[in-house]
Amino acid sequence: MHSKLPNIGTTIFTVMSSLAVQHQAINLGQGFPDFPMDERLTDLVAKAMRDGHNQYVHMCGLPSLRERIAEKLNTAYGSQVHSDTDITVTPGGTYAIYTAFTTILQPGDEVIVFEPAYDSYIPNIEVNGAKAISIHLEYPDYSINWEKVREKINDKTRAIIINTPHNPTGSVWSEKDIAELRQTVAGTGIYIISDEVYEHLIFDGKTHLSILKYPDLAARSFVCFSFGKVYHCTGWKLGYCVAPEPLMKEFRKVHQFNCFTCNSPMQHALAAFMEHRDAYLGLGAFLQQKRDFLQQQLTGTGLKPLPTYGSYFQLYSYEGLSEATENEFAIQLTKEAGVATIPVSAFYKQPVDNKVIRFCFAKKEITLEAAAERLRRYLI
Ligand code: PMP
Ligand code: GLN
Repeated sequence: MHSKLPNIGTTIFTVMSSLAVQHQAINLGQGFPDFPMDERLTDLVAKAMRDGHNQYVHMCGLPSLRERIAEKLNTAYGSQVHSDTDITVTPGGTYAIYTAFTTILQPGDEVIVFEPAYDSYIPNIEVNGAKAISIHLEYPDYSINWEKVREKINDKTRAIIINTPHNPTGSVWSEKDIAELRQTVAGTGIYIISDEVYEHLIFDGKTHLSILKYPDLAARSFVCFSFGKVYHCTGWKLGYCVAPEPLMKEFRKVHQFNCFTCNSPMQHALAAFMEHRDAYLGLGAFLQQKRDFLQQQLTGTGLKPLPTYGSYFQLYSYEGLSEATENEFAIQLTKEAGVATIPVSAFYKQPVDNKVIRFCFAKKEITLEAAAERLRRYLI
């Protein structure tokens, strides 16, 4: 077969989760919580099913859910998102990003991608016949060198994909980044795809700078969100994309012949549940505590935490502990210490070896404690 993605293997998340199962390792690799989701929400799903909400809902998403989403965004970000024209509910944030790329890309187009990057971005670009132009974030704080970005912009640049809070590094955009982005795209037809799935998973008093806060940038943006991250239900695979009407019109042309519409009882349940703002407003503090707990548990192992200000993740450097590559080290820890992590090199097209691995701390304390104990036993 003539592969459309000849150089792509199996995603690292599946590789490491399978290895974890095989070696009975504690899985701090793939990003998913092991604590239960809110029972009020599961009850609402059961109720929606019992009430007979089991048939197709509107192709763009249940209207009442889109209304709740618009209210939430407009309150949180001061935006003017319209529920009828600017929002489409999707089967997850990843699908929203893929559909946004498919909506705008023509063969030969270029897209600026910051690496390390969530591993779906580059294959999404390439499967559309376009080219990813990689710019490395500056190690160790993973900041953006905007001069380098501007050097890469040319007539073929169709889009920039951004992600804050950032997976895998936990870096978070500042107002300076927004100003630089504005200056970079001014006077161009460049689209922005903004991956904001970790909008509420933000720590240390930082504020999430959604693209929706900036009308001039929002006018050229597809902003992607995930319910899985906000409500501890990654397996639901439900999210949404927000874009101004002319862009969303094109997005919906692609969407309607791909999945057409998403799971109906869950949309009914979410529409009823979204009034509980406490469910997401407390998320940052809840996860920050877990981040700090894991850090404290790993003291003395020689693993050095790099700062993280958001997401489920923290990078740890193992410099001085091992000469192994990141991939080798992550496999070794899974097999020999019984703890799975993710090598950060997997988030680069051309592997970069800074000797850092990613830990997911969105776990029960008992899980983090047990993993840290195994690591202490192995590393000290
Ligand atoms: N973007 C990033 C950076 C992520 O980490 C995830 C989590 N898997 C997603 C998008 C998409 O999430 P989902 O498709 O599960 O809603
Ligand atoms: N976003 C999750 C992570 O980074 C995984 C999602 C997936 O498995 N595709 O770990």
